[in-house]
Amino acid sequence: MRLDDEEMSDNVEKRTGGGMRNIGIGGGIGGIIIIVLALLFKQDPQQVMQAVQQAQGPGQGQGTSEKLTTENASPFEIMSSKVLRSTERVWKLEFQERNKTYEVPGMVSFEKGTESGCGFAESAMGPFYCPADRKVYLDVSFFDELEQRFGVKGDFSKAYVIAHEVGHHVQNLLGISGKMQAMRSRLSEKEYNKLSVMLELQADFLAGVWASRANKIKPFLDPGDIESGLSAASAVGDDRLQQAATGQVVPDAFTHGTSAQRMFWFKKGFESGDVSQGDTGIGLGSW
Ligand SMILES: [Zn+2]
Repeated sequence: MRLDDEEMSDNVEKRTGGGMRNIGIGGGIGGIIIIVLALLFKQDPQQVMQAVQQAQGPGQGQGTSEKLTTENASPFEIMSSKVLRSTERVWKLEFQERNKTYEVPGMVSFEKGTESGCGFAESAMGPFYCPADRKVYLDVSFFDELEQRFGVKGDFSKAYVIAHEVGHHVQNLLGISGKMQAMRSRLSEKEYNKLSVMLELQADFLAGVWASRANKIKPFLDPGDIESGLSAASAVGDDRLQQAATGQVVPDAFTHGTSAQRMFWFKKGFESGDVSQGDTGIGLGSW
């Protein structure tokens, strides 16, 4: 993947120094654990809490936030920002051709944890898109894990994951995710999971459409890149993730689709380059 002459996006925020969720005095599970520990060790809980808070320092959990620039970005963040820029260009064009306006999403690069419009984000969650604040959350350590734990290599596999999250933003703009949320209370968990899989596979498909169109505008793919994207799609399929986590596969609990399904839809998006072919079962919203 060649992104040397790609520019960085203006819409990336870098958050550093964010920690775990602030337990606060007397609040939450953390507070209860501290009280129990304090009682066990015959200390005054209030004093122990204060000591913990002082150790945490002010603003813990928030950290600092600044705009991502060439000066403060790591090589990984530069790559992510360029991929986001490329998705902005592609989706602006795609929307324009349908007489629609593409409102670009924001992206937040964070470490350990940060607040999001969808609750507290922790690095263990992996990258995600929050429809409420229209931002893609990218934890800087996730891709190391992808490489070390699942053996996924190559920059394009990372680009694919970012393009998948942007795919969720496209679904949000088209009203697809909103429609699904509105139906949620009327569905059983099993039915809802089925819809979730369709939503995930469509995001894979949209990532494929991005790769196809971006490569036509400005060729950036090298031989082997699509295979590397497919291996990422396969590695983060729910069957593989569940196998890694529990040692077994439980199809009913799938929310992302199997590796084979994910590869199928990504490939379909890449080969067709045509959004209108991306109905995975949940429709195409206002497309
Ligand atoms: Zn997803």
